Amino acid sequence: MAEQAVERPGAQQWVPAGAPVDALRAAAPSCRGCELWEPATQVVFSAGNPGARVALVGEQPGDVEDRRGIPFVGPAGQLLQRAVDEAGIERSDIYVTNAVKHFRFTPSGKRRIHQTPELAHITACRAWLVAELEAVAPEVVVVLGATAARALMGPGVRVTRERGQVHVLDGIRHVPTVHPSSVLRTPDAGRPQAFDALVSDLRVVAGLLT
Ligand code: SF4
Repeated sequence: MAEQAVERPGAQQWVPAGAPVDALRAAAPSCRGCELWEPATQVVFSAGNPGARVALVGEQPGDVEDRRGIPFVGPAGQLLQRAVDEAGIERSDIYVTNAVKHFRFTPSGKRRIHQTPELAHITACRAWLVAELEAVAPEVVVVLGATAARALMGPGVRVTRERGQVHVLDGIRHVPTVHPSSVLRTPDAGRPQAFDALVSDLRVVAGLLT
């Protein structure tokens, strides 16, 4: 049987116009902009300082984040925090969020296997990301991985090629780098170098703040 097309209205109608981050977070659980809300435990909106100088944008919440309702609290988030600290960026200067606000996964027994969001999910969810970045108005946006790059910089950006470079988009500096989960997936022998490369990209960001 042919797969049925899923209608995705997009988040726009649930996003309160011109709202601060707290109001956006309060409104997000109502969102039915795509089908990802239904199997997920809850929406995972953002964390950190709503007046931060640096916004870090990842892909989507993972298994731990979905259960706790807070972004970047799983293993990748802990690694990212270490990298941010090592790069010399103050924790009080950061705001963290994801391009897609619900966990996309495939059940496998008791496990839930991460599925990369499709372009349609990124597009559907983008109104939240645009609204929160308008509200936070960061000096620099750190684009963590390919999904965030598709959401913020378009399909032509190759993160591995352009990582650590400064792109000015709509007057805001964007610095792409890899998602911290890719450091975790790096084989043991190369992981310290992969971590150092992430720190190096984040030092570019720290340098923009001085
Ligand atoms: S993933 Fe985004 S667009 Fe889809 S339901 Fe969740 S908040 Fe809405």
